[in-house]
Amino acid sequence: MKLSIASALPRLLPSVFVFLCALATGCGGSDDDTSAVTQPPAAADLATACPGLASTTLAAALPVAKTNLLTATLVAATATTPEHCQLDGEINRRTGIDGQSYAIRFRLRMPTGTWNGRFFMGGGGGTNGTLIDPIARVAQGYATIGTDGGHDNTANNLPAAGGTSSFGIDPQARADFAYGAYDQVTQVGKALVNTFYKQNPAHSYYVGCSEGGREAMLMTQRFPQYYDGVVAGDPVLHIPLGPLSGLYTTQLFAGLAQRSGLALANGEPAINKTYSDPDLLLVRNAVLAACDGLDGLVDGIVDNRTACTPALVNPQLSAIQCSGAKTDSCLSADQITTLRTAFAGAVNSQGTQLYSDWQWDAGIGGLNGTTYNPSWRSWWLGSYASATNNATKLSFATAEAVIYTTPPVAVATSDSLSYSLNYNFDTEPIKLYQTTTTYPQSTAEMTFTDALDLTAFKNRGGKMMIYQGGSDSSVSIKDTLRWYDAMNARMGGAAQDFARFFVVPGMAHCSGGPATDNFDMLPQLVDWVEKGTAPDKVIASATNPGYFGVASRTRPLCPYPKQTRYVGSGDINDAANFSCQ
Ligand code: CA
Repeated sequence: MKLSIASALPRLLPSVFVFLCALATGCGGSDDDTSAVTQPPAAADLATACPGLASTTLAAALPVAKTNLLTATLVAATATTPEHCQLDGEINRRTGIDGQSYAIRFRLRMPTGTWNGRFFMGGGGGTNGTLIDPIARVAQGYATIGTDGGHDNTANNLPAAGGTSSFGIDPQARADFAYGAYDQVTQVGKALVNTFYKQNPAHSYYVGCSEGGREAMLMTQRFPQYYDGVVAGDPVLHIPLGPLSGLYTTQLFAGLAQRSGLALANGEPAINKTYSDPDLLLVRNAVLAACDGLDGLVDGIVDNRTACTPALVNPQLSAIQCSGAKTDSCLSADQITTLRTAFAGAVNSQGTQLYSDWQWDAGIGGLNGTTYNPSWRSWWLGSYASATNNATKLSFATAEAVIYTTPPVAVATSDSLSYSLNYNFDTEPIKLYQTTTTYPQSTAEMTFTDALDLTAFKNRGGKMMIYQGGSDSSVSIKDTLRWYDAMNARMGGAAQDFARFFVVPGMAHCSGGPATDNFDMLPQLVDWVEKGTAPDKVIASATNPGYFGVASRTRPLCPYPKQTRYVGSGDINDAANFSCQ
C-alpha cells in the first residue's frame, strides 16, 4: 500500500491495531497492508519506549522461542546517524555437541523520528561469526538488522578444529549458519519493528555480497515470504565448492612453486611467489589484446565477456611465453600451462568438473599508478611480498574440512596447507553431499542457493538485483550465469521481469580491480519494488580510475544478457556516452 493512501486514512487507535493484528495470520512476521493505516508513534514517544524493549515479557511473545532481548539503548543522533533505538539480542543460547556455547546474535536499530517505513537486513561474509551491523542504512531511514549467523568468531574459535571454522563440529551451528539464523532473525526483527512502531514495515529488503549474497538468494528461494527485494552481490551459490576449487588451485600452484624452486623461509612451497605482480599485469594485457576491442572500444575493459573465450586468449598467452630465461616481460611455459589449467576448473582424475571453469577477464592484474592490483591474486595466490602463504582460498581449507565435509574433519588451522595438498578429488567431494545420523543434512542441501523455480518470490512481487565481478576469483561468474540462464529458462524466459543480473567487468570479488566497482543498487531496487520502475542500467564509477590512467570513469552496468557499448562519440570515461545493447 502506498504511504500516500495510508496517510489519507483515519488513524486507528493502538487497541484497534492490535485487534487487526490478531486477526491477520503471521502479523509481525510478514508484510501486511492492514498495518499501514496507522502512523508510527511520535519520535519522543519512541525514544521513551526504547529502553523498555529489553523485556522478558516482550521476548516471550516473539515468534521465535528462546529469544532473549539483552539491551535496548536510545542512541543519540550524531553527524552521520539519526537518533535511534539499538536493541541487542540473541536466539537459542545453548551448548553444542562440542561443548561450546552458541547463540544466534542480532542487532536491531530503529530510527525514532526518521523511519522510512522499511526493514533492512544486511548480509554477512565468509563463514560469518561477526555481528553484522549495517548502520549506514539507518541514516537513510531504514530499520536495520544483522546477525552473526549463529556462532561467534571470538568465542567459537578452536585452533585444533579450524579456528573460526570450528563451529562446523556442531550440527545445529551448521544449520544456523546455512539458513536458520537469517530466517529466525528476520522473524524476530519484523516482530520487534511491529512492536516499536505499532505497524509492520511497508517493505523489506535484504542486501549482501559474497556469503551475504548467498543469504539474499536464500530469501528468494527458501524464504520467499520475507523480503520484497534483495540485492545479491557475487552470490555464493555453491558455498562448499568455492573452498573445493581453492584446494584444487592450491595443489596446482604449490606444484608450480616446487617445480620452479620457489620456497618460503618456513619451507612451504611459495604459492604467493608463483606469479609476480608484473606477471599478472602481462596476463591482463594478454587478455586485453585478445578481448578488449571485441566490444568496439579499446578502453581496458572487456565488455563482450561472452566472446572472450579460451580459444581467443590462449594465443595471446602463448605470445608472452619466454623464449629464454624468465624475465618480468614474459611468463614461463609452466606458468602459462598452470594458469590455463586453473581457469579450466577443478576436476577429478576422470576429468569430471567438480565446480566451474573461470572467466578470462582483464581484472586478473593491473597497475594503478605504482600500485599493482591486489584483488584477484588475494584469493588464489596471496600477496607476493608476504613471508608466509596467505591466499584466502588456503584460509578456507579448514572450512571445507570442518564446516562442509560430513562427518567433519577437525583440521587444525596450522594444517591448512597439508590438508589442501593431500585432498583427494576422487574420494572426498562426495562428502559434501552425504549425511550421517549426527549430521542429518548435507551441507550441499543446506547451503546451495541454485534453485530454478522462483515462482513464490516472483508471485509475491519480489524483485532481485544480482551483480558479480567478471574477475571474481572467489566465486566463478560462469557458475552464477549458468544458474541465471537455467533459472530464466525454468521461469519461461521471463526472468527479467523480477531478477536482473549486472556483470561488472574487471571487478574482483565484491569490489576492487580495474573496474567501475562503486555503486549502490538499493535505491533502484526500492523503485522497482515500490514504483514498478525496472532498472535498465546501474551507473557505476571506478574506485581506482588510475588503473585506466584517468582521474575518473563512470559506466552503465547493464542487465545481462545486454552489454555496455560505446555510442561512438564523446568522453569514454563518461557513462552518458554508453548504452546497454
Ligand atoms: Ca573494451
